[in-house]
Amino acid sequence: MAVSKTAASKTPVMQQHAEAKLAYPDAVLFFRLGDFYEMFGDDAVLCAQALDLTLTSRNKGKPDEIPMAGVPYHAAHGYVGRLLAQGHKVAICEQMADPKLTKGIVPRAVVRVITPGTATHDDHLEARSNNWLAALELTGAGVGLSLFDLSTGELGLGSVPSVASALGELARVRPREVLVGGSLPEAALGEAVASLRQALSPALVSPDPALAEGDVELALPDAAASRAHLDIARAAAARAVRFARACNPTSSVTPQRLVRWELSDTLAIDPTAQAHLELVASASGDARLTLLHAIDATCTAGGSRLMRRRLLAPLKDIATIRRRLDMVEVFVIHSALRERLRRELDKVTDLERLCTRVAVGEATPRDLGKLRDGLVAAQAAVALLSDIDDPALRETLETREPPDTLPELTDTLARALVEHPPAQTKEGAIFQPDYDAALNELCSLCESGATHMTELEAKLRAQVDIPTLKVRFTRVFGWYIEVGRSHVRRVPESWRRKQTVATGERYTLPELEELAERIEHAEERHRARERELLAALVERISAGSNRLAALAAQLSSWDCASALAEVALRYDYVRPEVDASDVLQIEDGRHPVVERWAAAGRFVPNDVDLTIEGARLWLITGPNMAGKSTLLRQTALITILAQMGSYVPARRARIGLVDRVLSRVGASDNLARGESTFMVEMRETAEILASASERSLVILDEIGRGTSTFDGLAIAWAVAEHLARSVRCRTLFATHYHEMTALDADPHIVNHSVSAREIDGDIVFLHRLVRGPANQSYGVAVAKLAGLPSSVLGRASELLATFEGEKIESSGPKRSRTRRPSDGQLSLFAPGGDGASAAQRGVTERIRGLDVDRMSPLEALRLLAELKGQLSG
Ligand code: ADP
Repeated sequence: MAVSKTAASKTPVMQQHAEAKLAYPDAVLFFRLGDFYEMFGDDAVLCAQALDLTLTSRNKGKPDEIPMAGVPYHAAHGYVGRLLAQGHKVAICEQMADPKLTKGIVPRAVVRVITPGTATHDDHLEARSNNWLAALELTGAGVGLSLFDLSTGELGLGSVPSVASALGELARVRPREVLVGGSLPEAALGEAVASLRQALSPALVSPDPALAEGDVELALPDAAASRAHLDIARAAAARAVRFARACNPTSSVTPQRLVRWELSDTLAIDPTAQAHLELVASASGDARLTLLHAIDATCTAGGSRLMRRRLLAPLKDIATIRRRLDMVEVFVIHSALRERLRRELDKVTDLERLCTRVAVGEATPRDLGKLRDGLVAAQAAVALLSDIDDPALRETLETREPPDTLPELTDTLARALVEHPPAQTKEGAIFQPDYDAALNELCSLCESGATHMTELEAKLRAQVDIPTLKVRFTRVFGWYIEVGRSHVRRVPESWRRKQTVATGERYTLPELEELAERIEHAEERHRARERELLAALVERISAGSNRLAALAAQLSSWDCASALAEVALRYDYVRPEVDASDVLQIEDGRHPVVERWAAAGRFVPNDVDLTIEGARLWLITGPNMAGKSTLLRQTALITILAQMGSYVPARRARIGLVDRVLSRVGASDNLARGESTFMVEMRETAEILASASERSLVILDEIGRGTSTFDGLAIAWAVAEHLARSVRCRTLFATHYHEMTALDADPHIVNHSVSAREIDGDIVFLHRLVRGPANQSYGVAVAKLAGLPSSVLGRASELLATFEGEKIESSGPKRSRTRRPSDGQLSLFAPGGDGASAAQRGVTERIRGLDVDRMSPLEALRLLAELKGQLSG
């Protein structure tokens, strides 16, 4: 271990290192030595590998030799980011005093531990999503769950009944780090950690054994929930905050905005549905194919984060949904207002994160400049929306009482900072000339010092008659007089030689030294005054951080609403009606993502009309590629959009409140996971049946494909019946089992199909949903489209005709192709006719058992050969 190796070393610096490492054993220690961060021992070995650094060693050849690797301090953020991405924590150990002004060893201390869940630097964050640190409090009374984004100061807390439901929430928000602790016995905690690690990712989840309560005081907004639930939620929040504080020992970490969630307030979207619907991530990995991308026209990073949060947690409260829609509507109607607002918002910087960087002491002068620019733009935006005469409009825009724009702070920053402050404090030139009298004076002192030097140079040149004599400065040597080699003879005896260089000699003399010291002193005082002024600004910003957070939240909400209005106008969306009725009616609904990528005007809109008390389950048949999945998904997406408070891609939409969106897609998608697809499918189906309520929206796409035809059909059938009869929820059920269309005997189940037309054996998809079952499966036509050789196609058509003939024959002339099961029995295929030979019956059975859709051409050919053999042999 690095600890023992370093502890053995004697030098005071290495002793400091050993102590710091002992305090933070599980973090990579970045140890500041001058202009570098050095890593020693195991940390050095790890970093050399993870960051492609050269591994050297300190005290080479001596008994206390130790591996070493380093990075320049100004480039450290990039390296830290790479370590975080690989799941490491980094402890930053700084020099706590200016080495130039310190006698003996410089004091050092760990000022920050950066973990994936507590990062605050821009380089370590995604601007458009929250960086959540999650904490779970496992107790006998349930699971407390909290999410803390240190970078924005937002803290959410709530409680859920079980680890499994907590996992559902975590899958939704995708935290960067998860802490697990609580009052359950150690074994139970260990088990929870193991299951979370398996479901999320091993590096993400850490046990956090420390007790949660203690010094963390949280002023919680009023809670309606029972005491116990509040307590465990609070304990989880305290755990997250305490962890973040431990990571920031030298600054004050305080949540800026506490939000108590009632998880029952939000429309639940189970993780499978979230993935299937491609809300924030697409199956292909292309972010442009997500719903978020389709609607996120926000101007600010904060607005974008809010949009994402709203999308993943739509509401169940009709009044709040309508309030959000009202605001969007104002921006739809008042286009000029929207455009002017968005122009201002474009200039609004990431106030939340800037404010946090100030609080953790990470803010650079450039950050302060950005904060100023953001505040100035915020002021303009607020003025724009408050200077409206119509009180009703102001009510909707939430500007009856406009948010505090911190005018004094804005003013101070505007007066204080130069237009483009530097990225490093060291560079100086941060403040405007007339901001501070003392600084001004020190500044002119420095400048006059420089002038005096120029004057001295001229004087010396004249005195010794060397016109090329120079008075110069370098960091290492300070001020000196340089004389070219050819003139050295003329230099007076009294000048002291400092250094010989290739071109000549460097000298000094008392007058120069005195002046140099005066300049140095002035510069030092100048820097000190700058630091003082910066600290005062930081103090003022921190004091206003609560108000800043409130302002930022309001700006994000306007940004979200005006972006949704922009999208609504650009892509012709309509305001949905959301009410307590039992319907889900969509006229001319479109898929918001597919329509964007379809050729202009080529997307075919469709209607959906589900009613809990009436036709609650639509069974949708149609050939592959006809558009069944698209219809299913668009219905769920429109529901989600409506309940998040957005306009929707349709001509009209009325959504009777939905409490949960559940979905399950056909087998093939899960093949990559390596589990038995059928098992996965059945488990997910079981989850749906267990969690759906009458108010849920369920979309099922081709369930039952993961197993043999008969099993699959039987299961799909039973699931549809159960949903329609027992759960009674609104359901769209796409299937390729034609037999299921017989279910429409149930008054709550209605057949629909996505039409296609076969023209001369070619299939033309119309993508139009029509009442009634599909009349053909077009499997052969789709196979042709996919390029199967014509010989195979011809033979397949022949076989198809034979099968269909047999099916009708065998089940009697009066029975249609889609029979109804009698007495609840599935008599899918009657046994072959009596006249058939045993071999023929065997072949017929095998062919009936096939799932042609899932066969490769080669498999089909091989099978044909085999069957032929069976008949002739
Ligand atoms: P299925 O589920 O029936 O196999 P999909 O829903 O996957 O079919 O649709 C197949 C393709 O057809 C989609 O990728 C899309 O490009 C196109 N499509 C689907 N629905 C429509 C529509 N309503 N209008 C235009 N194109 C559509």
